[in-house]
Amino acid sequence: MEPLILRHGGSIGWIEVICGSMFSGKTEELIRRLRRAQIARQRVEVFKPRIDQRYSQTEVVSHDENALRSTPVDSPEQILLLAAPADVVGIDEAQFFDMTLVDVCQQLANDGKRVIVAGLDQDYMGRPFEPIPQLMAVAEYVTKLHAICAVCGAPANHSQRLTAEEGRVVLGAADRYEPRCRRCFQPPRPSPFSSKEGVPLASPYPDAQPAPPAAPDTPQSEK
Ligand SMILES: [Zn+2]
Repeated sequence: MEPLILRHGGSIGWIEVICGSMFSGKTEELIRRLRRAQIARQRVEVFKPRIDQRYSQTEVVSHDENALRSTPVDSPEQILLLAAPADVVGIDEAQFFDMTLVDVCQQLANDGKRVIVAGLDQDYMGRPFEPIPQLMAVAEYVTKLHAICAVCGAPANHSQRLTAEEGRVVLGAADRYEPRCRRCFQPPRPSPFSSKEGVPLASPYPDAQPAPPAAPDTPQSEK
């Protein structure tokens, strides 16, 4: 949830995470919160990774073209320097930053800033997409948004890649992805040559070989 008290008083900062699948309205929600802060005459700075150049170099742009001016940066450390005068720091498409973003957000919040981070919580395989899970753990407030499944209309928690491209970062919008629910999501099979992306899940696919039986001392709930 978004905090109801937008100024805790004194110089106490905090972290908010807005996560969810593609087309779930993360950027719109980020913009809504930042606009309200601007109206309250708080100093707002917005950043995004330079890698995301789908729409604009200098604006946070959501799929409905509701835009807010932002600064593209190459690394989270740059945010620390550029955000110094801000009361509120917005970060969009945060899944494209590396894990140093977690420490940077912690530092900003420790310095008394309100930090609002928006990003995908899962990749195209349905795996947690760091650094978002780590940010969710240390954040004071987490909002998980849902899209609508393009197949059945249920709440969608996954981003279905519609092309055969491999690699975790394949930029695109409706031309390459659509939102899917748990039942309709069909992640591609992991390539045996792409293990550097992360440890493959045991069996995320309905038609895959069944996982080996658990050891007798393994609690079922941890499978
Ligand atoms: Zn569905």
